[in-house]
Amino acid sequence: MANPTRKFKVGVVGATGMVGQRFLCLLSEHPWFDVVVLAASARSANKTYENAIGNKWCMDTPIPEKYKQMVIADAENDIDKITSMVDFVFCAVNMPKDQIKELEEKYAKHECPVVSNNSAHRFTDDVPMVVPELNAEHINIIPSQRKRLGTKRGFIAVKSNCSLQSYVPALFPLHEKFGVKDVLVCTYQAISGAGKTFETWPEMIDNVIPYIGGEEEKSEKEPLKLWGKIEGDKIVSADKPNFTAQCIRVPVSNGHLGAVFVNFENKPSVDEAIEIWNNFKGRAQELELPSAPKKFLNYFTEPDRPQIKSERELENGMAVSIGRLREDTQYDYKFVCLSHNTLRGAAGGAVLLAELLAAEGYLD
Ligand code: NAP
Repeated sequence: MANPTRKFKVGVVGATGMVGQRFLCLLSEHPWFDVVVLAASARSANKTYENAIGNKWCMDTPIPEKYKQMVIADAENDIDKITSMVDFVFCAVNMPKDQIKELEEKYAKHECPVVSNNSAHRFTDDVPMVVPELNAEHINIIPSQRKRLGTKRGFIAVKSNCSLQSYVPALFPLHEKFGVKDVLVCTYQAISGAGKTFETWPEMIDNVIPYIGGEEEKSEKEPLKLWGKIEGDKIVSADKPNFTAQCIRVPVSNGHLGAVFVNFENKPSVDEAIEIWNNFKGRAQELELPSAPKKFLNYFTEPDRPQIKSERELENGMAVSIGRLREDTQYDYKFVCLSHNTLRGAAGGAVLLAELLAAEGYLD
């Protein structure tokens, strides 16, 4: 098991948001990471965490005691102070994209690595966008990024969008062996993906909204960067498989489900596909990272699984559940898959990425 020789001091930028709250829960007992700074907008700055959060706390468990009296820093105006106190920061903020880009670069240029949940830098050529089980080797672009930024330690690494955290892991090992050609996916996405609860978004009760701004483009384009290769000082996206996506908001608190139709270059048998899923191990499992699920891809044989309520928390919400693999009349196969959008799809995925970066020496 990878085991850094020291604990890393960590800041959470956007600590009052929905993803920020998840970070705090996941990090409160983390073996490698110790949260020493919380930052948010000027609206929350200089208040204690407990005061700033008011009735916005929306996790199932209470605010961990250690954060309640911490005084929130101003993420934009206290960068010198924040970066002097930490080894790296997690970032999940709700701001215009160009402002997030600028903010994250400022932290990196202050020699503070940024592990980000935001989409702003996902298509910056030398910023790795990583699912640690799938494309861990993309972190080797970091020296090129540091050169461009003029930094010794500072860099930005991002995780991919929550919508694709179920179907891309499912397709990834099949693509390696059988060549995935075309993918049609419909996603059924939880309201927490929009930073909302049923209290803050009552219109979603007994409702379905067939539109999530920008999500279909992300769901079609981001998989190709995950399948990309480092060429010189950039990551070049793959040009296939072909993806088409429809993303739909459904009245569920947590958990994004995908319904997938897929064509292969060489069609596997049902048994071959299921065996590959059940035996799949990535770099996160090889390194036995603390947040890595023991078994990343889990196939359910029951015809009515995976279900959001029974499977979303599998392996602390870090595993992917798959089911209903069967032949289709127009595609080779269809199946369904599920992942927890604020755990694997957001904060949990970012914590796992930070563990990978720590284990591979990029946070030293
Ligand atoms: P959220 O609940 O709206 O929280 C936003 C956070 O950003 C709050 O801490 C807020 O601080 C802070 N913030 C807003 N304006 C700021 C400013 N000018 N300077 C510094 N901080 C500022 O949003 P969220 O759902 O946690 O999402 C955060 C990010 O993660 C977004 O980029 C989102 O796209 C991404 N993401 C979310 C999910 C998900 O499932 N929710 C999944 C993947 C990625 P105040 O409380 O002080 O306003």
